[in-house]
Amino acid sequence: MSVEREHCQCQDTQTRFLQRAFESLQLGDAQRELLLSVFRETTITIPLRPHRADDDGGELRTYMGYRVQHNHARGPFKGGLRFHPSVNLGEIRALAQLMTWKTALVDIPFGGAKGGIAIDTTELSQHALETLTKRFVQKMAPVFGVHQDIPAPDVGTNPQVMAWILEEYSKTHGYTPGIVTGKPMELGGSAGRLEATGHGVAYLTDKAATEMSLSIKGAPIVIQGFGNVGFHTAQRLAAMGARVIAVSDSRNGVVCEAGIDIEQAQCHVAETGWLEGLPGTEPVSNAELLEYPCDILIPAAVEATINCDNAEAIQARLVVEAANIPVTHLADATLRDRGITVIPDLLANAGGVLVSYYEWVQNLQEFPWEYDTVMQRLEQRLDRVYDQVRDLAQQGATDLRTAAYELAIGRVNQAMALRGF
Ligand code: NAD
Repeated sequence: MSVEREHCQCQDTQTRFLQRAFESLQLGDAQRELLLSVFRETTITIPLRPHRADDDGGELRTYMGYRVQHNHARGPFKGGLRFHPSVNLGEIRALAQLMTWKTALVDIPFGGAKGGIAIDTTELSQHALETLTKRFVQKMAPVFGVHQDIPAPDVGTNPQVMAWILEEYSKTHGYTPGIVTGKPMELGGSAGRLEATGHGVAYLTDKAATEMSLSIKGAPIVIQGFGNVGFHTAQRLAAMGARVIAVSDSRNGVVCEAGIDIEQAQCHVAETGWLEGLPGTEPVSNAELLEYPCDILIPAAVEATINCDNAEAIQARLVVEAANIPVTHLADATLRDRGITVIPDLLANAGGVLVSYYEWVQNLQEFPWEYDTVMQRLEQRLDRVYDQVRDLAQQGATDLRTAAYELAIGRVNQAMALRGF
């Protein structure tokens, strides 16, 4: 699928999902318009001489950077920063809106935002990446703030990038750890934040599978994407006794019916950069991987990878959306018709923003929590939210996604009304 088509699908999908919930909630046109409208969109340009690792004299290039702040009825804007070549305003807009519903669904006092830079980070030296990040912060500083807008990691960014954001912002505002989450522990990051999204995905996968009388022990699981979310999901599920039979990165996938050794796979990626050639596995393309026979399929890469081209061929009984918007609305309808259960993104991957919230709270309190406290609170909250969504879906004879949107939209709508938006 072309990148352009993916972007159209991403925005369209988000709107179609919302329409289903708007109809169930019987919201009028004015309320719908207000809920969909964006608070602020900031677009910047960042000039840089990108020093390639092998060539220090790079030519001047201009990169596009974005921050979309969708809704702040329930608290400061919150959402990740994505550094990826496909980043554009439409994609960031859809992801910012999704953050509004996600923070409302898990009932934390934040709104929704997203940002990013259209860049292939593999082309940059560490020094160039640091310069680019700091220039992004210089230009975005007026819209960021501990009680205004708090970024976090997403595709192509990590704790080191968050540390550069903290440093650049602190230059003009004094030491401000609460300006960003997903930081290294040494700079006020939270215990458990790195693995929080994957841990939450694995926790809810187990819970949903158990409800479907599908034992996680020995269950064949396929995971697309082996970055922060994919790796930690795989690691946790393997520790629970699941058989992770296939994983992939942006280049290709690998499969092993007996179950992949996740730690070995991580070492192989650290050494070679890719999963390709992992000893004891066979190669598989990303397209083949999604259609591979398994009980549980976990897309943990980018948007729209499950679409009209492959929805009929998915063989899993349960799809867990670790990535944001990985299933297009048409594919979602196909999966529903085929009786495949889908745990939607705003619930499945909410562990990341939950622990980001815990990190922010610890920064405001200037008092770090123990790892076990963080994980216990994460699991308890996800457990409760999952039960609320499942119960609402059963009462309304609807799917988990529509029920999750209904809960989230109801909360945002109420906050807007109370504040007199
Ligand atoms: P990451 O950059 O750490 O990893 C992304 C992985 O996906 C890499 O293995 C990459 O090679 C692979 N990939 C990229 N493009 C691909 C393609 N077209 N096909 C197959 N694989 C591809 O990113 P991440 O933080 O793990 O994020 C993954 C997904 O999870 C994204 O949708 C992100 O928005 C979502 N998410 C992340 C967090 C978080 O805390 N990091 C929280 C919630 C949701």
